[in-house]
Amino acid sequence: MTPFDDDADWDAACVAAVQLAEAARAPLPNECDAEDEDVWLDAEAEFGNETCAVPERRQLDLRAWLGLAPRAKKAKTGAVQADIRALFGAPVPPPEPVVAAPRRCPFYKRIEGTPFAVDAFGYGAVPGVQAYILTHFHSDHYGGLDKHWPAHLPIYCTPVTDRLVALRLRVPPAALRPVPLNTRTLVLGVPLTFLDANHCPGAAVALLQPASLPPSRPFILHTGDFRAAPSLLGSPQVTALAHRISLLYLDTTYCDERYAFPPQEEAVAAAVAAALRARGQHRRLLIVVGAYYIGKERVALALAEALDCAIFVEASRAQLYACFDWPALQARLTRQREGSPLHVVPLGWCASPAKLAAYLEQQNQGAPPAYCYDAILGFRPTGWTHGQAPRKAGKGVSVEGVAYSEHSSARELAACVRLLQPGRVIPTVSVGNAGKREAMAKLLAEWQAA
Ligand SMILES: [Zn+2]
Repeated sequence: MTPFDDDADWDAACVAAVQLAEAARAPLPNECDAEDEDVWLDAEAEFGNETCAVPERRQLDLRAWLGLAPRAKKAKTGAVQADIRALFGAPVPPPEPVVAAPRRCPFYKRIEGTPFAVDAFGYGAVPGVQAYILTHFHSDHYGGLDKHWPAHLPIYCTPVTDRLVALRLRVPPAALRPVPLNTRTLVLGVPLTFLDANHCPGAAVALLQPASLPPSRPFILHTGDFRAAPSLLGSPQVTALAHRISLLYLDTTYCDERYAFPPQEEAVAAAVAAALRARGQHRRLLIVVGAYYIGKERVALALAEALDCAIFVEASRAQLYACFDWPALQARLTRQREGSPLHVVPLGWCASPAKLAAYLEQQNQGAPPAYCYDAILGFRPTGWTHGQAPRKAGKGVSVEGVAYSEHSSARELAACVRLLQPGRVIPTVSVGNAGKREAMAKLLAEWQAA
């Protein structure tokens, strides 16, 4: 096996490495930083959720802060119990096996006042939850799902996500409940509708209508990961929700006005222009586009259409892409490496000029002269590259950032909140960092007041 075989672990490691490198460069929002119980409890207190139990230590803090006396402890500690046993000559029981407690489900993954949880698969069976929603097939959302998932706990997702889960995670089929987009379905007596999230293929925004909400604001919207482009905010399904949402769970990945990256169409057009320019400078140019397992396909497709060529993908990626309902993409895919000057590779590879140089060398090894390349251009499509200059990374190797994001820019988040005017907003990303949380709360309040 070479380092460039399409290996799922390698792919994931590259993505993780890029994310770590990016995180090291700047304190970027990251859902993972909200997973630590100690930090997101503060967020829970701020953004509010009366249904979640607060651990004892934090309860003591809150009681002190509220000026309440601490509750008397009920249970004796292990040391006191041992003293009592010794005093009365009671036998000492064998030590209890140490069992790791399941992580506690963060409050923003539980839908308040309902039996639903969203993208919450790493916490065991969450008490009170009877239906799980999977918004899309990205690992930070499906983490914890595997073939051991109990078949009696239903998972609602779109048909594309359903096929991806079945292909890769082998979840018991009886647990999976695919629901097409824009189709109202009753789940445990609650109407559930998935709307297009404009994120990766199959991604959905979940709209719930619990009977407990007032008729003037009957909806809860959980955006999962989404890009609130004008086309999404202007759709009749979304405009109909203006002023009618009680609670909005919002993807706040870029809830910071520094992230003013361009619309997707503009970012894609810039990538196409850069590719055409580079092709004019090199006789035989290999172009590679970085991508997650799924997501960012629009960049590769636009390049293929502009250059009128096929897109080479490895076998495992071809399997994933076959789960999409996307004929235009399917028509461009090929498994024929020779003569295909456009490849999709793991995103992490495009952050490493050395890896790109090695990839170029590997493609040329043993290839007929007609299929050899003299240069490689890597595209790295992510909102984090906004404002970064293209990098010449050595002879014949260059890397171009594409400010193409499948999350909303700060301006789009503002437009979304201003349009919907929800009763309350709960951020779902970066809530674990107190500084970011305060800045987000200030921005969200401004947008809601506007
Ligand atoms: Zn995602």
